[in-house]
Amino acid sequence: MSAALESAAGPLLSVRNLRKEFVLSAKGLFSERRTLRAVDDVSFDIGRGETLGLVGESGCGKTTTGRLVLRLIEPTGGKVEFRGGDVLGKTPAEMRALRQQMQIIFQDPFGALNPRMTAGELIIEPMVIHGVGDRVSQERRLRKLLDLVGLATHHASRFPHEFSGGQRQRLCIARALSLEPAFVVCDEAVSALDVSVQAQILNLLQDLKRELGLTYLFISHDLGVVRHISERVAVMYLGQIVEMGPKLAIFEQPSHPYTQALLNSVPSAKKGRGSFFTVKGDVPSAAKPPSGCRFHTRCPIAKPVCSEKAPPPVTLSSGHTAACHFAAPWNAMQPA
Ligand code: SF4
Repeated sequence: MSAALESAAGPLLSVRNLRKEFVLSAKGLFSERRTLRAVDDVSFDIGRGETLGLVGESGCGKTTTGRLVLRLIEPTGGKVEFRGGDVLGKTPAEMRALRQQMQIIFQDPFGALNPRMTAGELIIEPMVIHGVGDRVSQERRLRKLLDLVGLATHHASRFPHEFSGGQRQRLCIARALSLEPAFVVCDEAVSALDVSVQAQILNLLQDLKRELGLTYLFISHDLGVVRHISERVAVMYLGQIVEMGPKLAIFEQPSHPYTQALLNSVPSAKKGRGSFFTVKGDVPSAAKPPSGCRFHTRCPIAKPVCSEKAPPPVTLSSGHTAACHFAAPWNAMQPA
């Protein structure tokens, strides 16, 4: 399908009311089994060639969301469409075929690679598994992929332990691109790397996106990294998206107290700004989320209605939504 036709036909990926519940086993004889709602009613679209950054504290459900979209774990409910086709209704064989177009890059490049295989074998393996091309075309693609990710041809004979952390992540990226996917979930893909290497890998991901027309769901706890690479940003708290919008709106006009508090924790984001919120206390358990707005136990401007009624997403400007009864841009809110 051409790009024009595809964009006219809708987003590349569409997620609606996605849910994942994990049943926790009872600890004692008389204790009840509890349900942990890791992802609760999450909806978003990603356009072709777009990068959506998914950001939030550790344990907020962002990694689970990435895996649900690819069906690496099965959702409890909701809908995922890729190129307009229902992903959750696919048979295992159909899903295997679809995985050629939907790939993932993990946080830990060392753990993601079989230490007994050479870089060349690791990059070619997905093509062999999916029966793509013959040996000659696979070798040709291997050379092209090594070049694309900034590795040399002679690196093909090396084992993962012979690479640096940054080179290993380049290898993981080459492996993820082996089957020419259209969509890649980058799950904390640069978190384990030194800051200088992070920048190199982020630039590589951006170059590859331009060159190959890739679409990313970029998951990270690091706001700076998300700001660098994303066109749009979704902020997650306790299994739900609390604010979503164009990058500029999220970073310049954050309107949910949680987003403002997250930005408050980044020193460089404070420059020239007025009042800032800070949140106290730990994130509540997703097995027992607070009533109403889940953020009310930590929100500095919470009112009685917040614990009674869950706030629906409010549209603040084109494509910018925030799920807060009192959503207002940065500086307009004052702590109670
Ligand atoms: Fe805070 Fe209430 Fe808004 Fe929730 S709905 S973020 S508790 S003001």
